Amino acid sequence: MDYAIPLPACPSLPVAGSAQRFPVRRVFCIGRNYADHAREMGATVDKDTPMFFCKPADAVVSDGADVPYPQATADLHHEVEMVVALGRGGRDLAPAEALDLVWGYGVGLDLTRRDLQAQAKAKGHPWDVAKGFDHSAPVSALRPAGEAAPGTDTVLRLSVNGEVRQQATLGEMVHDVPHIIAALSALFELKAGDLIFTGTPAGVAALQRGDRFHAELAGIAELDGRIA
Ligand code: MN
Repeated sequence: MDYAIPLPACPSLPVAGSAQRFPVRRVFCIGRNYADHAREMGATVDKDTPMFFCKPADAVVSDGADVPYPQATADLHHEVEMVVALGRGGRDLAPAEALDLVWGYGVGLDLTRRDLQAQAKAKGHPWDVAKGFDHSAPVSALRPAGEAAPGTDTVLRLSVNGEVRQQATLGEMVHDVPHIIAALSALFELKAGDLIFTGTPAGVAALQRGDRFHAELAGIAELDGRIA
């Protein structure tokens, strides 16, 4: 193929314990998936209609690379989340068939320009500039589902500069992974390479330049990084 400009690189994530990498196609995120976080944001949980938004695939920051403090904000927030990586696609799936799509699991930060999000909410605008900015999705190495799969007791945790900021078990999710995948597949045809951020528990707060973060999906994935 003769491309008019150089072919953009395909973002990818390391695979834990392997030299292989996982190519990233799209990044879907669910909002308001832990009741205590919805509460701290002054929002309510809609159990019937999960709320989704997207980030560009090249917002992914891999391999523990520094996250540059983004432009156009004075209130960059962390949201630690389990990340689900799909190895197969599908559409209009039932929850019972949804886990067949899952290739592996990781942990990531849904970084948010909270000031821009508040403006967007106030004006009824979309969330793209608050959520889908450059470097807004640091993600750990992925653990293949066949090696270790999370359960309702699995702990999700974020520490910043050695202090725990967010901690929950996955059983606190309003919509579990099969229901998230099923609901997404009713809106989009899912494909191999898609990532899904599965929502954040309470404790979201600001990050400053120089902060070091440690995100953990206990026993499955870990991510260390720094705001530069
Ligand atoms: Mn989030």
